[in-house]
Amino acid sequence: MAHADRLERTLPDLKPPYTPGQAAAEANRCLYCHDAPCVAACPTGIDIPGFIRKIATDNLKGSARTILSANLLGYSCARVCPVEVLCAGACVHQHQGHETIAIGRLQRHAIEAAFDRGDAATLLRRRPANGKKVACVGAGPASLACAGYLALEGVAVTVFEKRALPGGLNTTGVAPYKMHVEGALREVELVRDLGVTIRTGVEIGRTVTPAQLLAEHDAVFLGVGLGADAKLGIAGEDGPGVSGATAWIERLKNEPGFALGDLLCAVVVGGGNTAIDAARELANLGVPDVTIAYRRTEADMSGYAHELAHAREEGVRLVERAVPQSFVRGADGTLAAVLLADGRRLDADLVLVAIGQAKPDASVLAGFDGVARDPKGGIAADPETGRTGNPRVYAGGDGTGVGELVVTAVQDGKRAARAICAQLGIELAPDAPVMAGHR
Ligand code: SF4
Repeated sequence: MAHADRLERTLPDLKPPYTPGQAAAEANRCLYCHDAPCVAACPTGIDIPGFIRKIATDNLKGSARTILSANLLGYSCARVCPVEVLCAGACVHQHQGHETIAIGRLQRHAIEAAFDRGDAATLLRRRPANGKKVACVGAGPASLACAGYLALEGVAVTVFEKRALPGGLNTTGVAPYKMHVEGALREVELVRDLGVTIRTGVEIGRTVTPAQLLAEHDAVFLGVGLGADAKLGIAGEDGPGVSGATAWIERLKNEPGFALGDLLCAVVVGGGNTAIDAARELANLGVPDVTIAYRRTEADMSGYAHELAHAREEGVRLVERAVPQSFVRGADGTLAAVLLADGRRLDADLVLVAIGQAKPDASVLAGFDGVARDPKGGIAADPETGRTGNPRVYAGGDGTGVGELVVTAVQDGKRAARAICAQLGIELAPDAPVMAGHR
């Protein structure tokens, strides 16, 4: 259970849930397109007009069933997906100059209703146990999806998570204005209710060996995510006031009693979505002067333009062509500023470094014979099946370096579940939940 005294709880939900009336009104704006472009734009292929029509006809159970079939983690995807560049970004309404359908908010409405009723896990048909056993390493979206779909086909699945709380980035990294830890854990409960066993505080390679996992299970899925924050590699980076952005966000979301103190100015180094998220969090927590320092120009940033626009509305400023070279500290070691390569100085009581994360740690892969890395350091896996160089080991999610979204991780887990079923001789009916959506 998440601790009550966490800083993220002071940050509001920027897209609050719909009332039933608001949901019905929004659902009735949908044109229920054939060959709907929104479906094509969803990495999991949710039947979006189908679930929206069910909301419009007050069939919330059917709506949640449609969503969860194609995307077992449809709840967190509803909360955290960049819908502006996925489903809603493809909505035909934009061509007619109308506001696009708020697909994420409608999806949240349908699934939250199922969570509130307590019947989400009963909406999908579940086959009896077939004696097969699969281990999933890591309790992030890829593993949870793989585990849940396999459990629905009668497989006994155990998820092993080294942290105290399951959920992966949904629990440790998602911007609080999109979803708090409590939301992520509601979804984990759904996966548990499907029959999946989740063991936390268990680290593969330390608590349990890969050999044990392979001996006790028919197949293993590696959904291990990425490693530690990358570093700038300049002197003083390990001193007070400087932190990796994902490590800092994890403290904000998870650590009881974590507080900012009297921060006046903060600098976030990086140009991706993590940098923008961290900057928005700092601004929303009341830090008066928040700067994103990016080494190139705004046009080169990998973070979403709509998120940067929101950040600016919240008072965040962007400094382009900013390459940190050294830190300025007071006599007592307190951070005062970051100096850039061109001589500019950015005052900073806190610097967060958001320039990426390391690839999966070698200790995670050691012991799985045949599992290799791709040229970029991710786990090498077939993009269609997730199969690695070891025929009994599959992988997906951020650790494979294929996708970087919750929804792409879910699709990885779903594809791997299909491939594992095929390998274990489990025949999949055409109406099996794992067969829904994109292949
Ligand atoms: Fe509805 Fe827009 Fe999808 Fe058409 S494209 S089905 S209007 S959400």
